Amino acid sequence: MAKVIDCVAIGEEIMKEIIKETEELKTAGITPGIATLLVGDDFGSKMYRGQVEKFCEEAGFNYISENPPADVTEEEVIKIVQKLNDNPAVSGILPLRPFPEQISDTVVINSIDVNKDIDCFHPFNMGKLALGEVTFPPATPAAVIEILERYARNEEKMDPKDFFEGAEIVVVGHSNIVGKPVAFLALNRNATTSVTHVFTSMKGNLEKHTTGADILIVAAGKADLIGPDQVKEGAIVIDVGINRVKVVDENGQPVMNEKGKPKTKTVGDVSFDAVKDKTRAISPVPKGVGAVTNRMLMKNALKACKINHGLL
Ligand code: NAP
Repeated sequence: MAKVIDCVAIGEEIMKEIIKETEELKTAGITPGIATLLVGDDFGSKMYRGQVEKFCEEAGFNYISENPPADVTEEEVIKIVQKLNDNPAVSGILPLRPFPEQISDTVVINSIDVNKDIDCFHPFNMGKLALGEVTFPPATPAAVIEILERYARNEEKMDPKDFFEGAEIVVVGHSNIVGKPVAFLALNRNATTSVTHVFTSMKGNLEKHTTGADILIVAAGKADLIGPDQVKEGAIVIDVGINRVKVVDENGQPVMNEKGKPKTKTVGDVSFDAVKDKTRAISPVPKGVGAVTNRMLMKNALKACKINHGLL
């Protein structure tokens, strides 16, 4: 019987730990803080910013929102970043992309203080990740590893170190935000790690790799990419994907909502119902990795706060 990993409970547990640590810091007169930098009004970024603000409030963090208009110059954005770098109330800076085209991602990211780079965007911190000297593991990959570590401890009654060492881990997707960093985090734990991507699929080799995985981490952004034929019996599957798809009836016809528009729902990259019973454990979508991601960002902000106050 497959275990559906309760990522919401894991997220809540981490939040309790964050609140406790924040209270301890506050008794020493230190308050952690996060600043978001949104240029213009991208809808997805505004949603994400709202979540960060809510979690900061819940944890007792300072929260600062910088939101210059879409036609701001790159020079002005860099000045804002420098102001945040110099502000002791800000432990971590989170640039919310995409930026308008006149603003270079690279230039903005390279101007962030490496000790405030809480989502590991700066090449210095990505380099440290590759070297196995991680300061701030990027939030989504860190969430994947945290879910696996807590699963190992709580369900398999195993030391996470033993759980990862020599495990066959296959990652689907090689983006700089999820696939590559999660592969580094797995490699740093001595897992035998393979990374697959669109060219693996184009050569017809995806299944060859994924069916060898003890732990399969999928981050491709393609609904139903992974079905039962792509999964080994008894594997642990972590689905990072988030996709909006149309709801269909038993005849494959779209189901309409009350406004006469096709109903949609959120799914991952793994065909959950078809794959679940083949696995030992699986993370759902929604209420999966996403329920832990923001908490990992907060954990990084706590760490940044301690570093910036000379406590680490
Ligand atoms: P991305 O930048 O679009 O990268 C997707 C990766 O998947 C690419 O490396 C791509 O390969 C690979 N890929 C695409 N189609 C494939 C196929 N048919 N077979 C094998 N590999 C394939 O996306 P991302 O930012 O990494 O995000 C991945 C997914 O995770 C998205 O659904 C996103 O919404 C979700 N996500 C979730 C969270 C969370 O907290 N739960 C956070 C971030 C992202 P190529 O580069 O070679 O094309």
